Amino acid sequence: MIYLDNAATTKVSEEVKAKMSDYLSDGYGNPSSNHKLGRESEKAINKSRKIIAEEINADSEEIVFTSGGTESNNTVIKGLLGKNDKVVTTVVEHKSILEACDKVEKKQGVRVKKLSVNDDGSVNISELKECLSSDVKLVSVIHGNNEIGTVNDIKRIGKLCSENNILFHTDVSQSFLKEDIDVEEMNIDLMTLNSHKIHGPKGVGALYLSEGVSIESLLDGGSHEFGVRAGTPSVHNIVGFGEAVKQWSEENNEKMKDLRDKLIEGLLDISDTILNGSEENRLCNNVNVSFKDVNGDDLVKHLGKEDIMVSTGSACEENKIELSHVIEALGLSEDWGRGTLRLTLSKYNSEEEIQIVIDKIKKTVKSLRKI
Ligand SMILES: *Cc1c(COP(=O)(O)O)cnc(C)c1O
Repeated sequence: MIYLDNAATTKVSEEVKAKMSDYLSDGYGNPSSNHKLGRESEKAINKSRKIIAEEINADSEEIVFTSGGTESNNTVIKGLLGKNDKVVTTVVEHKSILEACDKVEKKQGVRVKKLSVNDDGSVNISELKECLSSDVKLVSVIHGNNEIGTVNDIKRIGKLCSENNILFHTDVSQSFLKEDIDVEEMNIDLMTLNSHKIHGPKGVGALYLSEGVSIESLLDGGSHEFGVRAGTPSVHNIVGFGEAVKQWSEENNEKMKDLRDKLIEGLLDISDTILNGSEENRLCNNVNVSFKDVNGDDLVKHLGKEDIMVSTGSACEENKIELSHVIEALGLSEDWGRGTLRLTLSKYNSEEEIQIVIDKIKKTVKSLRKI
């Protein structure tokens, strides 16, 4: 099997599995319990908190564990915004931002402005500047795009927000550990982090909440996680998340980048093929291409039969017939947009696999175009 769908989720690493298993067996205490077993769980959670905080130059107390990226994003939008507040976001955000925005707009009268993007999918900075009026409470812009891999200049956006006294949130679910992130230097007030895109377990994520930013909890029923997220923390998942961060290496980023460029080169060799997203500012593991006059779903199915796992777009939109909202935002016409394929790498991929995939795609595109 060749797995190239690492933007959807990644394999849990052996080291992570081993660490988690300790807390699924003997270390089962509730971190709120005031006895030895409870305190051990609490200690384990705080160790993960510290690992993650240090990675982004935050304090441990600024890290709130959640059930994942979706919950962190929902908490930001629904916990921060109320009647007549204004939020500025973009048309290429993850659905957990876009649909949460739609909901608060409809239900609470929050004013939502969605910025368009440039041809490479990066946020239009001049349009953003025009929107930064004093009535804007929050700007939310994704860092590394989960579909097309474009990396936004969040340092620049953070600076603009800070100069205008506006809170800045960014979703780094895809870019965490692949790009340098420093919440101080980048003026980030709130940030969404995710575990299962970095070889950690599913069902856990974090919300970075800068000291002094207060937010309403989505859930009631306890003062866990500094009162921001009620409910017994998922100890084994949080331990796994921390271990995944610890295990990540810059070396693997370089390896993925190398494979990414080989894959892009091989695929662009096919006639009538374009690369979507930015060439220079691109996640080290993302390839997103469109083949003219090919149906991406057919391509995914054909490759699937050969045990090659790829995707047409984001995992959440796989079963829809429409073009993904991100591909649409790039302005691709139907005959190009339909033939979109996303291939996303991990440290477990090899050069040999990449060559096999290029050859198979070449053949499959050719035969699909004949039909
Ligand atoms: C995966 C992802 C999410 C959702 O995270 P879950 O942990 O799966 O809920 C949010 N934003 C981006 C950019 C993602 O890639």
